[in-house]
Amino acid sequence: MPDRRPFSHILFDLDHTLAYYPLPTAGVIAETFLRLDIPLTSLGAPDEVATLYDNLWVELERGIRTADELRLAVWRRLLASRGLLANGVAERIAAEYGATRRAHDVRLFDGVRELLAELRRAGYGLGLLTNGLSDAQWDKIHSTRIEPFFDAILVAGDAGLYKPDPLAFAALLERLGASRDRALFVGDSYEMDILGAEAAGIACAWIRPAGTPIPGPVVPDYQFANVLDVREVAL
Ligand SMILES: [Mg+2]
Repeated sequence: MPDRRPFSHILFDLDHTLAYYPLPTAGVIAETFLRLDIPLTSLGAPDEVATLYDNLWVELERGIRTADELRLAVWRRLLASRGLLANGVAERIAAEYGATRRAHDVRLFDGVRELLAELRRAGYGLGLLTNGLSDAQWDKIHSTRIEPFFDAILVAGDAGLYKPDPLAFAALLERLGASRDRALFVGDSYEMDILGAEAAGIACAWIRPAGTPIPGPVVPDYQFANVLDVREVAL
């Protein structure tokens, strides 16, 4: 009997789609500063510092090879922007931040493991496409033990192809042996996941934060409250 389901392959983003950090950046900074006895507001309002940290992490990523190097580059830039870059300070903070981050490791959202297993049992090919540095992303993939669920995994830092570049999506489809018109991409980032999938000609489902308007002209094919809603489309 021919398969009448709309999709043969389901492709996922990782961060904030399948997995999350239980302690967000602001919390890691607060704990780091507490351990180093640095006053919390010495760099400014904690939420603003956390946003700046996250933005610098993405901005400085290209051309850097490891998460440790990137963390140090981010702290150097952050401290310099506040006129506080002194000898060894960025190194101390970056090392402590890394230890704190690792102590509150990444986790899968509830039900993700069961969802991936169900999709496999239902015969879907599964792919993972994640932006980020090779070591940082593979650490997450290994510590959440999700690698066996996927037929192909593409980490942007390995391939030199970052979402929303449609070539990143095309490269994953090729590894899966999948056709773009029978694939669905599921992700939380409108800019990276939805605009990228659209440009690659792949149907997309946006995990849309409650109350957030669609921020651009592309209307996602599906809008989910969380990744478990894939069931409504696929199972
Ligand atoms: Mg994401």
